[in-house]
Amino acid sequence: MAKEYLLSSVHVHTKLCDGKNTPEELAVIAWKQGLRTLGFSGHSHTPHDIEYCMTNARTQLYRAQVAKLRERYAGKMDILCGLEWDLLSDDDPSAYDYWIGSAHYVHGPKTGRYYEIDWREADLAACIQDDFDGDGLAVTEAYYANVAAVAAKKPTILGHFDLIKRVNGGNRFFDENDDRYLAAARGALQAAADNHCVLEVNTGAVCRGFRQDFYPSPLLLRDWLAMGGEVVITSDAHDAKALTAGFEQAAAQLRELGYTHVQVLGREGFTPCEL
Ligand SMILES: [Zn+2]
Ligand SMILES: [Zn+2]
Repeated sequence: MAKEYLLSSVHVHTKLCDGKNTPEELAVIAWKQGLRTLGFSGHSHTPHDIEYCMTNARTQLYRAQVAKLRERYAGKMDILCGLEWDLLSDDDPSAYDYWIGSAHYVHGPKTGRYYEIDWREADLAACIQDDFDGDGLAVTEAYYANVAAVAAKKPTILGHFDLIKRVNGGNRFFDENDDRYLAAARGALQAAADNHCVLEVNTGAVCRGFRQDFYPSPLLLRDWLAMGGEVVITSDAHDAKALTAGFEQAAAQLRELGYTHVQVLGREGFTPCEL
């Protein structure tokens, strides 16, 4: 029998934000794939964002469409209406079945610009030069302060912990082994531990070809394990093919790092599942 963690996909985007498929299309594929739980996590309305979040009108549509699907699949597959809530969002995440807390922006202290850190490389370069005096590590410190602020709100899942590294392959913009980087990341890990957050091991960047390592990096996952931290495997799916993409590799890596179990999100909340 398949491991339960292969049967629950709860970081999933639809066409109503920046995904490619409708909620219905995703549900059909999830059902064919044999999932037990499909959790939608549309990007929460965030006032200054014009690229990827749901408008208020779309949020209503999202909730209505997911509610219909939940009824249609009742007794066959659990459908959850979640939210990927951004630190700068004006939506209320407690109104959803669960929520993934994420930091997607760094605020430039000089220009006042909000830099979207699902970076285009040029944006990261501009952020470092125009707002942080050419100091890439200072950007990462600002980012991890935001992650700690998200953790303090006690999300169901803390999203893509080290998203800041997305276009930093080869340590192009900052050194991920630098003491300053690690101190900032560990500060945010401590905030996550203090607030009993479950971290997602997010396969999205690997499956979409941006990185060779998952969020979070092995080094941080090792620290997290030593802190007694809990993890859930997610794919940050933006299309139906990706619902459980990379789950087996993530599980293998977690086993290698010494994890014995992961958390699986379902209708009743989290259940631990042996790896
Ligand atoms: Zn995100
Ligand atoms: Zn996402």
